[in-house]
Amino acid sequence: MSDVYTSILTRIRAAALAAGRPADAVTLVAVSKLQPWDHIAPVLDAGQRVFGENRVQEAMGRWSERRSEVELRLIGPLQSNKARDAVAFFDVIESLDREKLARVLADEVQAQGRAPRLFVQINTGEEPQKAGVSPGQADGFIALARSLDLPLEGLMCIPPADQDPAPHFRLLGEIAARNGLSKLSMGMSDDFETAIACGATSVRVGSALFGART
Ligand SMILES: *Cc1c(COP(=O)(O)O)cnc(C)c1O
Repeated sequence: MSDVYTSILTRIRAAALAAGRPADAVTLVAVSKLQPWDHIAPVLDAGQRVFGENRVQEAMGRWSERRSEVELRLIGPLQSNKARDAVAFFDVIESLDREKLARVLADEVQAQGRAPRLFVQINTGEEPQKAGVSPGQADGFIALARSLDLPLEGLMCIPPADQDPAPHFRLLGEIAARNGLSKLSMGMSDDFETAIACGATSVRVGSALFGART
């Protein structure tokens, strides 16, 4: 398993260099959702420290005992009634996708005196079934989040499964650039090298690293 880990890291570095970027420009977010612990442990032992999870309760169950060893990122949809736990538990929330959630997170940040770094999820393909702010509303939403003193770090997207992802990755980069955001979370198992060519600063890789989810 750690051979797979090494090969993913090698591919990430090679893709960064091929794009004229520093070899260490891209952070691997290892997506551990729904994976058995015996798939995760070797990757943790090999030195991986940044993990992505889709659900608050599942993440707390998997990581509570090892919380101080890792950086944890919530990459799945966040219900408002889980915002308290999410603010308390995660280092990064990548799925800020609507005004109500922005307001609830702002209240929790105030109440807890703790603020995860935040990414706004953009629905670059404007797919009705997918979460995220539509590209045309992104600038206004980012301004709103900033007016609530939320610590925005970047943008995240999940392109439509049936399309060339590159135009979606480039669109995310354009929205980030014109809003002064430096981080781009984009690219998964099947397209992370394309995302790195388009400027990804972190890639979220699950099945290519840990195997198919059960
Ligand atoms: C599950 C998931 C991933 C990982 O997908 P793989 O194709 O297994 O690499 C990445 N990002 C998000 C938002 C996910 O939900």
